[in-house]
Amino acid sequence: MLAGRRFRVEFTEEQAEFAERIGAACRSVWNTGLQQRRDYRRRGAWMNYRPQAHELAEAKDEHPWLKAVPGHCLQQTLMDLDRACRNHGTFRVRWRSARRWAPSFRFPEGNKMALQRLNRRYGRVKLPKLGWVKFRQTRSLDGETIRSATLTREGPHWYVSLLVEDGTAAPTEHAALGSAVGVDRGVAVAVATSDGRLIDRKFTSAVEQARAVGLQRKLARAAKGSANRTKVRAALAKVRARERHRRQDFCAKTARQLANANALVVLEQLPVKNMTRRAQPIVDVHNPGRFLPNGAAAKSSLNRAILSKGWHQFEQALKSVSRYTGTEVVKVPAAFTSQRCSTCQHVNRKSRESQAVFRCSACSRVEHADTNAAKNILTAGLAVIACREATAPPGGVVTLTQEPAGNREGLLLQPM
Ligand SMILES: [Zn+2]
Repeated sequence: MLAGRRFRVEFTEEQAEFAERIGAACRSVWNTGLQQRRDYRRRGAWMNYRPQAHELAEAKDEHPWLKAVPGHCLQQTLMDLDRACRNHGTFRVRWRSARRWAPSFRFPEGNKMALQRLNRRYGRVKLPKLGWVKFRQTRSLDGETIRSATLTREGPHWYVSLLVEDGTAAPTEHAALGSAVGVDRGVAVAVATSDGRLIDRKFTSAVEQARAVGLQRKLARAAKGSANRTKVRAALAKVRARERHRRQDFCAKTARQLANANALVVLEQLPVKNMTRRAQPIVDVHNPGRFLPNGAAAKSSLNRAILSKGWHQFEQALKSVSRYTGTEVVKVPAAFTSQRCSTCQHVNRKSRESQAVFRCSACSRVEHADTNAAKNILTAGLAVIACREATAPPGGVVTLTQEPAGNREGLLLQPM
């Protein structure tokens, strides 16, 4: 199966400088390519990968700096641009700014690379034009073949991500056949499971949060282009990176635990993009040019809470690890899962007494609100599986013909 391996790189001085140059060339190719695509679109025409790659090859004769960097990285940049424009639309794709964009480029031809273990701590990989690149080898790569390598700078450090074929086959069935769990992702508690566990972790301490706020303030005051501003930005990036790494760690570990123990994991569909949209401004009709309070601050802080829990990241981690354990991940619509009693199926908005407490208005059962929701999610997921086994061939999109009790919207269920 394909897997990613990421290591911290230790460049020589020349290599670090060269890597920056490759990054700058890729950025320039990206921006020029995007400009050209936008010009074409404005005239009602289309530009795509092939002619752009052709023009790139011709431009190399005029610009020696383009010739100096690995050609495959530049072509790969054009391919990435092509895909970005297809997926998101030419005018939604962003420019790569020298300051905001962290250099990142890919060497697509794994068969042209060589791997070598140097000693207990270090290994090296041979990349086109860069030569032997030393990295901290924190895990064995024995018996794995490289497909591609991506170099990325994060703050002052460079990392190499190797896409490898690890030689293992996908499992045909899960070790604990028949086991299943429902998962409710929340703001107060990151992950609640149908067996009553509440899994969460703090990603920043109060001290770190205060420091981030202080640095943000400093950054706003620092003069543009000053050395101080660069320094403050680097310090802020470091604080944010720590938070990001902890979240990544939490998502990966939680996903691993759940996938190891369960053959089926049911999640609710969360339209994270819609949920985190900004509050719309409300124009004051009696006072032209003025605006009424629209709850923007409250909405922003809810958005921050949603994004900071890493819901999407957790889902990605779960999908990734499920390939190894043979776990099936199913998503079900989120509607009413927090308002329905998981025992008597009664739906009432008022049953949810508070953020944490669910007290059924029909059978007066009391439970943690997130656990109750997770149980409902599991029930819906099991219904999907039962329905699929009864009617449709495996893997296809399943539409429930019979509406389950308490569901007013009808379900379109899609196993992933
Ligand atoms: Zn009830």
